[in-house]
Amino acid sequence: MRIAILSRYPGSYSTRRMVEVAKRRDHEVEVVDYSRCTMNITSRRPEVRLSGRTVETDAVIPRIGASQTFYGTAVVRQFEAMDVFTANPSQAIARSRDKLRALQLLAARGIGMPVTSIARNPEDIAEVIEQVGGAPLVIKLLEGTQGIGVVLAETHKAAESVIAAFRQLDANILVQEFIKEAGGADVRAFVVDGKVVASMLRQGPEGEFRSNLHRGGSAVQAKLTPEERSTAVRSAKILGLRVAGVDMLRSNHGPLVMEVNSSPGLQGIETASGVDVAERIIRFVEEQVLQGRKSDRIEG
Ligand code: ADP
Ligand code: MG
Repeated sequence: MRIAILSRYPGSYSTRRMVEVAKRRDHEVEVVDYSRCTMNITSRRPEVRLSGRTVETDAVIPRIGASQTFYGTAVVRQFEAMDVFTANPSQAIARSRDKLRALQLLAARGIGMPVTSIARNPEDIAEVIEQVGGAPLVIKLLEGTQGIGVVLAETHKAAESVIAAFRQLDANILVQEFIKEAGGADVRAFVVDGKVVASMLRQGPEGEFRSNLHRGGSAVQAKLTPEERSTAVRSAKILGLRVAGVDMLRSNHGPLVMEVNSSPGLQGIETASGVDVAERIIRFVEEQVLQGRKSDRIEG
């Protein structure tokens, strides 16, 4: 079958691995730079064009960059209008990209997460600090990724000034209880089609509470508890993601979800777990297309 990987980086590890596996499994695979796609959205026969030709494919695997969510999800939506199967629906990608929206959806369905609070007006800072149990606490930019924009405020004074500074820049933030016992580590569960296919434990470098690999963290294989597995699977399902990286902190009272990634990278997880995650994704897409699964109807 024909598979298009929607990615701006054909040379990235994740994209290369999926291309390699798709070829090995006898598919016609192409990497489509979605940022260069054009779409005539008024056409009765919707299509996506790239470099003067129509993109013809049976399935798409979106790898939409965090800064490209708006245009990237529009391209995925166009493929949905064409009844092309997508590994992740456009709606689900949009939902998970907005940290606040995602956490609100997860909290409403009873998923455990660090106590989290938000406010808009600087006059309400004291109240949100109190709501999360006071300092130390974590302050996060809503649009941040890779650990940039995640700050640990150790004292009440520090928390006040960091929050005030972010607000001054008109940045949207959330304030979160600091899970000290996680010890600068978190676990990622890689979910494909409602199952955890691989997992890893990431540990930040000495003196760093953020475990992001981009911040110098290191990853090892992790055995997840049944509760961690079910939390990860449920979180992906609530957001509507069929391929997802679910990040959890190990707290004294069980797993706490921090975020759910719709384009989780493959390098760290494959290296740490030894699992061929790319193959799991390609096989999932294959099964769905062979079963005649079309894309989800657009719900607006
Ligand atoms: P990003 O999207 O930038 O990766 P995260 O919310 O995943 O932001 O936070 C980055 C890292 O910071 C996490 O992987 C985790 O190690 C650490 N961290 C985030 N929130 C908390 C918290 N509430 N308590 C303790 N550590 C946290
Ligand atoms: Mg993260």
